[in-house]
Amino acid sequence: MSKILVCTQCGYIGRPKNAIKGNIAIELFLWLFFIIPGLIYSVWRSSSRHKVCPKCGNKNLIPLDSPKAQKMVKEELTKEELENIEKKQKEAKKETKKNIKKILIGVGIFILLIIIISSISSNNKESKSVPTNSKEVSNISDTIPEESIQALNNDLNGWAEGRWTDVVVGQSDGELLVRVYAQSGANEVAINGYCKVLKDSATKYIPSGHKLNLFIYQNGEVAKACS
Ligand SMILES: [Zn+2]
Repeated sequence: MSKILVCTQCGYIGRPKNAIKGNIAIELFLWLFFIIPGLIYSVWRSSSRHKVCPKCGNKNLIPLDSPKAQKMVKEELTKEELENIEKKQKEAKKETKKNIKKILIGVGIFILLIIIISSISSNNKESKSVPTNSKEVSNISDTIPEESIQALNNDLNGWAEGRWTDVVVGQSDGELLVRVYAQSGANEVAINGYCKVLKDSATKYIPSGHKLNLFIYQNGEVAKACS
C-alpha cells in the first residue's frame, strides 16, 4: 500500500514504517476516565501520523521515482537490486489484498459466532419451559400401575368374607386410597387385625414410594385410619 521511499540519511530503499507520536497506554487511560481529553489526545495522535525510515528513524524520505532518489539509487544499486525492489513492491500489493481477505474472513467468523451464541442462548431460554413438561412426565410415572390396584383389590376381596362387606381401592395423585367397610359387629381387636391385613396386602401389591391411605369404615364412619 505504501510507496517505496528512499531515506536521504542512510540510503534505505523500501517501504517506510508508520510512526505516531504519543503513547497507546496514555490514550487508553484518558479514554477510560476522561472521554473528552481522550478524544483530543486521539485526534492529536492520529494527526501526528507520519512515515519514518525503519532503519534509522529519519523522517526525510523521498519517493523512489523522484529525480533525486533515482540519482541516489543509480549510484548505489545494480539493475538486479532495482528489479528486486520492484518485485517486492508487487508482493506487498498482493499481501495487502491477502490481509484484506483475512480481515473479511475474520469479521465473517466473528458475526457467525455472535449468531451461534445468540441462538444457543435463545435455545436455553426455550429449554427453561421443559421442566414443567418433565414434571408432568414424572407425575405419570408416579401413578400406581392399574395392575397393582387390581391385584390389591382382588386380594382384599379374598379376605372379605366374615370381615368386611365392601372394598374400594383407588388412587389420587400417586397416593393409594383404600376404603374397607367392616361388618358392624367387628370389635376394636378385629379392626386392628383388619388394619394389619390392609397394610400387609398394600405393601405386597403396591410398588414402594406411594403413600398408603388405608381406612376402615364401620356404620357409615371411619372406625380406623391405618397408618
Ligand atoms: Zn534511514
